Amino acid sequence: MAEVNVYCDEVIRPNKKDFLIMGSIFIEERDIKSILKELLKCRCLNPKCKVWHYEFESCPNKTCTEKLHKKNNTSIHFYDLRQNKERKKIALAWLNYLKRDYGKKIKFKLLVIDLKKLQCSYFGNNKTDVNIYNRFFRTLLKGGINYLFCNQHNAIMNVYHDEGSQKKHEYFPELNLKKLSIESPDFTIHNKNIIFVNSDHREYLKNNDMELANHSQVIQLVDIILGCFSQLLLNTSNIEDKKEVAESMRDYFTKIMNYGYFPSSINFFPKYTIEQIKESKQRTLRQDPLDLALSTKGNFYKEANLEMPVFLGKQKNLRGWFNDTEN
Ligand SMILES: [Zn+2]
Repeated sequence: MAEVNVYCDEVIRPNKKDFLIMGSIFIEERDIKSILKELLKCRCLNPKCKVWHYEFESCPNKTCTEKLHKKNNTSIHFYDLRQNKERKKIALAWLNYLKRDYGKKIKFKLLVIDLKKLQCSYFGNNKTDVNIYNRFFRTLLKGGINYLFCNQHNAIMNVYHDEGSQKKHEYFPELNLKKLSIESPDFTIHNKNIIFVNSDHREYLKNNDMELANHSQVIQLVDIILGCFSQLLLNTSNIEDKKEVAESMRDYFTKIMNYGYFPSSINFFPKYTIEQIKESKQRTLRQDPLDLALSTKGNFYKEANLEMPVFLGKQKNLRGWFNDTEN
């Protein structure tokens, strides 16, 4: 039995494109300590540094200054990558670690919903995106735990979610995990309340809440993974720093999409519109459109074209960062 913590975030209609991209990182509880140590170590931009502490006073790096240390203690968001040297370097170091890990300890699942093809009216006219999000959030967790961990009777210990608009929605967080638990007798959910986490860990440092400050690191990592994937898939931004960071993940994402099995997964939904499904079945179906879409074979698919052209702009710098990812 694997005891797993899940960290979730989403991108809703990036750059007004009709997509909902959801992402979850799955980490076994026994691995969390070592992953955190590694993520925090990446924050120190001195390559000789072996450990990192949030407080400057306990920084083991002799050449560090308070100003530098503060800069490295920043929040890492894909959206804010522009013109922030430290953020970009830390994000790249994190992604490098993620690739080196190769799904051994850090597994993730991305689910991309094409909102154009989905009959959004099914979900109600108010807060449509959030309703769709809630529905597919369960698909994401269920698919992730069942696909990424081969053991039987796995347990989801806690679900951490980026603190955002979801919190305010009436269906979230109380009902969703309870519903998932009823739908899925093949795994257990220990804590059925979603734990909302601020993606700026410095908020927790003020109150000395080290546990949430640590979970916030993984929430920031989900944000970076999601940001990179949306950038590559939809070419959402023209900002060079974002393209550079996203480009570093092109190979990794492509491998996940092309291989039958890989310890992470990317899924797209739906392949067909309701009209296409009805047409192919050549009869009028009274079935609920979403059930129909979900039960149609091949409607979830694994490969899509990445719209962002290969970014070569800063290749000289890139080489230094990604040398060790090839082996
Ligand atoms: Zn320092």
